[in-house]
Amino acid sequence: MAEHFDLLVRGGRLIDGSGAPARPGDLGIRAGRIAALGTLRGTADRVVDADGAVVAPGFIDIHTHYDAQVFWDRMLSISPWHGVTSVVIGNCGFGIAPTRPAHRDLVLRTLESVEGMSLEALRAGVGMDWPFESFAEFLTAIERRGTAINVGALVGHTPVRLYAMGEEATEREATEEEIGLMRALVRDALRAGALGFATSKSPTHVGWAGRPVPSRVASLPEIETLAGCLAESSGGVMQATIGPGLFLDQFAAIQERTHRPVSWTALLGGMLGPDGHRAILEQSAAMQARGIRVVPQVSCRPLMVEFQLKAPFPLESMSVMRPISQADFAGKRRLYADPEFRRALRERIDDGRIGAPFRDMTITEHPPDPALAERCLGDVARERGVHPVDLALELSLAADLDTRFRLPIFNTDPAIVAELLAHPATMIGLSDAGAHASQLCDACAPTELLGTWVRERGVLALEAAVWRLTAQPADVFGITDRGRLAPGLAADVTVFDPATVGCSPLRRVRDFPAGADRLVSDARGIRAVIVNGTVVREDGRDAVDPEGLLPGRVLRGGRAG
Ligand SMILES: [Zn+2]
Repeated sequence: MAEHFDLLVRGGRLIDGSGAPARPGDLGIRAGRIAALGTLRGTADRVVDADGAVVAPGFIDIHTHYDAQVFWDRMLSISPWHGVTSVVIGNCGFGIAPTRPAHRDLVLRTLESVEGMSLEALRAGVGMDWPFESFAEFLTAIERRGTAINVGALVGHTPVRLYAMGEEATEREATEEEIGLMRALVRDALRAGALGFATSKSPTHVGWAGRPVPSRVASLPEIETLAGCLAESSGGVMQATIGPGLFLDQFAAIQERTHRPVSWTALLGGMLGPDGHRAILEQSAAMQARGIRVVPQVSCRPLMVEFQLKAPFPLESMSVMRPISQADFAGKRRLYADPEFRRALRERIDDGRIGAPFRDMTITEHPPDPALAERCLGDVARERGVHPVDLALELSLAADLDTRFRLPIFNTDPAIVAELLAHPATMIGLSDAGAHASQLCDACAPTELLGTWVRERGVLALEAAVWRLTAQPADVFGITDRGRLAPGLAADVTVFDPATVGCSPLRRVRDFPAGADRLVSDARGIRAVIVNGTVVREDGRDAVDPEGLLPGRVLRGGRAG
């Protein structure tokens, strides 16, 4: 008997996410779920032609920062452009809930600083009257507004610590009582549906007024106690950004105590010297072989940051920059002109690991002299017979600190990236989608993986790459009813053309609240993106009304209600 479907994806190559070989077939969807796979003779209300295309589970991006953007952009652009149907927010411990009303501005100023988001955009976008205080209310607020794709949220150490300790969260260790309060907050969040607990010890994570983000000030016992809440819950993952005192040994201990996976950010090429990644890969594989699920996140894109010296995020972990982080705009200008500050910065750049990347920086925008655009800072400095530091500061001072630079930081050697992507102990993470909006954009990582690393470089088989984008992240993050093509699972599906899939170079647009700018990348070869049975993107365009009813669901405890 011929079946009837709501939606039929016809005539593609099915890659089911498990790593199994592609096979020709159709996919039938009913009531938001996958109803049947194979050669289907049924009728349908709507047919998506997948001839010549791959039909895969919708991609899952486990490392995003849409926590604030979700309140002004229901489409969560640009993730669905690149085939993503589920995102995880709250990474690196930078959520926005729970937050007391009195701390709202501190939370936004932390995001401004640490995630390079425009404060004006954040204030205008989230508004002054937040529709939540607790984590549970935050999830409900997202649900009420609606989103085009699914959203799961980690509960972040930083808002939890700020909630419990106020401004002192950036200054000192917590008392027993405060840790008890934090523990209750994390437990409540997990009960309300948090996917897990997230924290950061990274020295690059500098918050408001140049202070460390709250989680960086936490003791190891505090982190262990909060992560320990995962042991009592039925699921959940720990995500952490590494830093002093929080690395493999600590993760292994936490994992063994909680029996929950730890996914850490990030293992990037060049981060620990030219071969440093190899020892980490070996240790990770050895731990995993013993059943210790500690999984490094890797990225298929070079980490490059565009920045201006009015917000020098990639340089701020150097102690010489501390007075800059604390200064207002006029103060920054004064310091950049100060011979003593310049001498100190020159010395630091010449001695440190950052010297070579700094000289290799590209000048991307210099309003007074557009001819400098896309030129290498070191080359121009040599031509002019000046130090690259002095050149960068002089150009910036002449342009009201609007000169823009692009700094290659890590993951620039394709041979190392290939090794990281192919290694069985790693997982893909760190798209940082939604964060650093004006500085970088790696939300296009899925199409880059499929275009550059599968088709062009042959580093991964198509089936392995699809597994990396779907079932693997779903398994580590406890997302239980999607990530695979199988009857009964949620109908999240991405249809793409393997011969053309890819992403464009970045372009700058001004579509954020308060006219703020951001970088975006366009996708190629993504034919259709289906979320819970509804087509949200088709042939590179939104296929739903961004103001209308949207199919995305909040993934409480890893699944939709
Ligand atoms: Zn992050």
